[in-house]
Amino acid sequence: MRVLIGGGSGFVGRELIRLLRDKGHEVTVISRQPGSGRITWGELESRGLPPCDGAVNLAGENVLNPLRWWNESYKKDLFSSRIDTTKALSQAISASSSPPRSWVLVSGVACYKPSLTAEYTEDSDWTPFDLLSQLCKEWEAAAFLPESVAKTTKQVVIRAGAVLGQDGGAMKQMLLPFWLGLGGTLGSGRQPFPWIHVSDLAGIIARSLEPPVLSEATPPTPQVYNGVAPTITTNYEFTKELGRILRRPTIFPVPEFIMSVLLGSERAVILTQGQKVIPMKTLESGYQFKYPDLTSALKQIVGS
Ligand code: NDP
Repeated sequence: MRVLIGGGSGFVGRELIRLLRDKGHEVTVISRQPGSGRITWGELESRGLPPCDGAVNLAGENVLNPLRWWNESYKKDLFSSRIDTTKALSQAISASSSPPRSWVLVSGVACYKPSLTAEYTEDSDWTPFDLLSQLCKEWEAAAFLPESVAKTTKQVVIRAGAVLGQDGGAMKQMLLPFWLGLGGTLGSGRQPFPWIHVSDLAGIIARSLEPPVLSEATPPTPQVYNGVAPTITTNYEFTKELGRILRRPTIFPVPEFIMSVLLGSERAVILTQGQKVIPMKTLESGYQFKYPDLTSALKQIVGS
């Protein structure tokens, strides 16, 4: 299979590429930077979709970029880096004379309203309630294919929780303070912390890329999968387990207002609030998680 991956140079993309190449698939990355095995977004727009059997979009400015202050220009980049790239790919797929058999977007669980009690499956209704949920709405809408194309191209949206792995994402920023014994709960610590090991997210994407059975018509709307581990975890449980595995104390809670000052209140909610997200459809699809629980995931990431 030939797979085209927008933003494939990043944390999730590198893991996905390893997995796809191990399975014998060919990968082309779409990037802002030209290079071997890559095309640029400009080339996609001017030359159209290169031949491919599956396409994925993983492009997006990092929401927790510690080097960027929370201001209008950063918010604009968060939106445009996701929506414009997703639109560029969905439009190239629609315009192609031989569109791929599958088209996968990875979005986020920020569409679901944070709550200590509500549980969300892929079937849960939601409407935007803040900036990040509005971003999810526009991002997922940008991926929609017209009905004529959706007849042959399977559309999938994977809503990922915090992606945990050795090589990037949230762990990269958390490990140093935890190693130094400065780790602690964020806000109340009672908020759910939906997470997934990067290897499982790559596994769910790879599975979603598999072409639909030829005799079956593909649904006109995207199939949604929650990309989270099946074990619901709170920020307190995550903090204590990471400290236990690292053999470090976790006695320095960070109050919610400090997080809001440091990150801006609109993005601090990613860490100080959370949602209980259930991967109901993901499990029903038969996907077997390699790291279904936090202990096995963290041991793989930081060593036992
Ligand atoms: P990365 O932060 O690693 O970024 C992926 C790629 O996006 C980069 O390699 C870069 O590719 C491209 N990119 C970055 N900034 C911009 C920009 N301003 N404009 C256009 N392209 C840009 O992301 P991850 O691999 O961690 O995540 C993949 C996707 O999954 C993202 O869309 C992310 O929002 C989503 N997601 C990630 C989560 C996580 O915890 N990591 C959680 C939930 C969702 P290049 O430099 O080659 O152009």
